[in-house]
Amino acid sequence: LFITLEGMDGAGKTTQMQQLKQYLEKQGYRVCLTREPGGTPISEKIRNLILDPQHGEMHPWTEALLYAAARAQHVSQVIQPALQREEIVLCDRFLDSSLAYQGVGRGLGMEEVLKINEPALMGRWPDMTFWFNLTPEESFRRKKGRDPKDRLEQQAHDFYEKIYQSYRQLAEENPQRIITIDGNKSIPWIQKMMRCTIDHYIKV
Ligand code: C5P
Ligand code: MG
Repeated sequence: LFITLEGMDGAGKTTQMQQLKQYLEKQGYRVCLTREPGGTPISEKIRNLILDPQHGEMHPWTEALLYAAARAQHVSQVIQPALQREEIVLCDRFLDSSLAYQGVGRGLGMEEVLKINEPALMGRWPDMTFWFNLTPEESFRRKKGRDPKDRLEQQAHDFYEKIYQSYRQLAEENPQRIITIDGNKSIPWIQKMMRCTIDHYIKV
């Protein structure tokens, strides 16, 4: 079972993932917790390269191709082997982040970004994706409390609005895969909803 978590910064993805891992392990499942960009030594290096504020503006296609490159390594080295061992894979951000951030945020087009990511997926789409639906205003507000150390953290409001709208569109177009979660709800409420959804999926 391959589960991805998507949404804007400050939506609570990381927190929920860790709680989910504990819950699933208590039930006897083995869980592989991972994230993008990153998840392997090579992919983490690519992550640092992309997020490094020292270099000047990175061309959107350079960025998109680097994310896809990091993903190819991550899928082949971590995700596929874990799924083969019958572990549940919980991944903090995946393909939809590229479609939203690079496809729409950076203006490359979702179709085009999907095209360069298809080889990186190696046929392995997520079985289930939770989208944390949080308005751009709320995401911006929550994030201000965090250390704005990378260049992407400094993006303006309209960028956030684009990301939000593209996630919304993805959720509408892929209702069988993407489950929308109200990011304004409490941490325990969201956790409960995710557990119910996964329990149900495993049963049927
Ligand atoms: O989720 P995480 O904090 O690890 O993401 C790091 C940064 O990379 C975030 O600021 C996010 O907005 C950005 N990002 C991006 N394009 C992606 C994935 C993440 O711009 N495809
Ligand atoms: Mg996070």
